[in-house]
Amino acid sequence: MDYLELLNKSMDTAKPVLGRGTPADYIPALACADPYAFGMALATVDGEVHGVGEWRTPFSIQSISKLFTLALALAHGGSPLWQRVGREPSGNPFNSLIQLESEQGVPRNPFINAGALVVTDALLTLTGDARGAVVDLLRQESGSEGIDTDLAVAESEAAHGHRNAALAHFMASFGNLHNPVDDVLKHYFEQCSVAADCRDLAMAGCILARHGVRGDGTRLLGRGDAKRINAVLLTCGTYDAAGEFAYRVGLPGKSGVGGGILAIVPGRGAVCAWSPGLDPVGNSVGAMAALEDFTHRSDWSVF
Ligand code: GLU
Repeated sequence: MDYLELLNKSMDTAKPVLGRGTPADYIPALACADPYAFGMALATVDGEVHGVGEWRTPFSIQSISKLFTLALALAHGGSPLWQRVGREPSGNPFNSLIQLESEQGVPRNPFINAGALVVTDALLTLTGDARGAVVDLLRQESGSEGIDTDLAVAESEAAHGHRNAALAHFMASFGNLHNPVDDVLKHYFEQCSVAADCRDLAMAGCILARHGVRGDGTRLLGRGDAKRINAVLLTCGTYDAAGEFAYRVGLPGKSGVGGGILAIVPGRGAVCAWSPGLDPVGNSVGAMAALEDFTHRSDWSVF
């Protein structure tokens, strides 16, 4: 298959919709991103990598980090985690507080902010450095030693993070955070603020395409855990539009308000598309269009 030609066609399909979305502005450091920027990269399970557009431009990975914190927490023996966070779609915005009270501080799934705060808390307990664990994993899988937290974005998030702070304190009141709230928030903001490019994320996403095996052939996750993460990505990974994403793209995927979407094709590879303009629920308009085209045009599908 000529992957480069395929990616170029998907980029051409996405071009007319670039600029229709709006960059996230509730984190001021992200508001100035160019809505016309676009990049896309594909990595196969056996190490082939291709990309088009601005595929080597680092962007704020934001909630794409939630996939890696979950993988790492489970890899470090965190399966009791499933008593502290559910695996049902929330049907609510990613930063909603509404279900937490009636559900006794147990978030619906690991990919909404409340759930990710619990996973970060667990990873902090298991490793002592949740942010560092995510950065190390991304560096090792991509070979890009420069991957790091963008501290200006992290500070901007922290300064405007009242809702995340509210979620964290509320869950702490139910005993569902074990570390000090400020420590959990710091690691959460700093892992969301990691800057990486489409190539790096596609390569790191291949762990899930290889059913839990890392690029160097060692196993990070049990096959069962990799399967479960992919399943929860499909049902919960793209905010309260996971149904729409499954309908249009049909792959397990995680989006972030930096405009990236990382999609996994078990057994084949991973594809990451990025464009900062978001639709009203927070998914990148350009990345969605490109991924939809990509799965229509290729046999990279789980269906
Ligand atoms: N750091 C962002 C927040 O907590 C992540 C949101 C996202 O990408 O979904 O609001």
